[in-house]
Amino acid sequence: MRVRVEDLTVAYNGEPVLSGVNLEFRGPGLVQIIGPNGAGKTTFLKAILGLIKPARGRVFLDGFEATGRPEMVGRYAGYVPQNPSAPKLSPMTVREFVETSLRLRGVTRARERAVEVLHTLGIRGEVLESRLWELSMGMLQRVFIARAIAPDPKMLVMDEPLASVDPAGRMEIARIIAGLARERLVLMTSHDPSLLLGHTDIIVVINRDLIASGPPEEVYREDVLRRVYGESVARGLVLAGEGGAHG
Ligand code: ADP
Repeated sequence: MRVRVEDLTVAYNGEPVLSGVNLEFRGPGLVQIIGPNGAGKTTFLKAILGLIKPARGRVFLDGFEATGRPEMVGRYAGYVPQNPSAPKLSPMTVREFVETSLRLRGVTRARERAVEVLHTLGIRGEVLESRLWELSMGMLQRVFIARAIAPDPKMLVMDEPLASVDPAGRMEIARIIAGLARERLVLMTSHDPSLLLGHTDIIVVINRDLIASGPPEEVYREDVLRRVYGESVARGLVLAGEGGAHG
């Protein structure tokens, strides 16, 4: 799987949020996109997913133009949005939630496939018939990941999948993400990339512009991070990474 972003420029109401970003990723592997709040990380993901039409520039998936074409991107990518929440009025169970999305794509044996993919994420037994609103954030995050990978996409895009999860759940989800990235291209944004640093192939630092991109040993360094974070945050991130990379 190959993603190519050329001269990507996105503006909201004439105000540029990303300017002239050029990048290329190849899967399988894990790409972590980092940068301060408001840096444009979510915007970058949404542009790759075709959900935002850029002011300038193009996105290619395996050589095919995907710019502003979410239905085309949907054939390649599963998406886990930031802070997934249980649809408030929906009484859907975990199994039904995954199964329904497969049915909408015309997948046969949707029920069996839903149960199978939930199993691979460690969700089994009575949890399958729990209602979405009964779940912890960590479990809900896992269910959303299951739904995103159920059609077996070549790419998985996740917005801050570790942010709203408690520490125990975070370890579990990090372990799941590391496993998924062995088989497909995983693009994720992160506030704290340390937990997955040892499994990360490419770190992208953005702050409205592309600041740096490359393997962690080249990019996840205090001198690079200081260009977008304050000195103490940059040092804290690097120290956390030294702990996390061995964990
Ligand atoms: P990050 O994910 O790095 O925190 P975002 O991509 O969410 O950054 O946002 C980048 C900037 O664009 C922020 O200043 C945000 O307020 C602004 N922004 C995001 N979405 C919209 C929108 N739909 N309309 C107007 N401004 C937006």
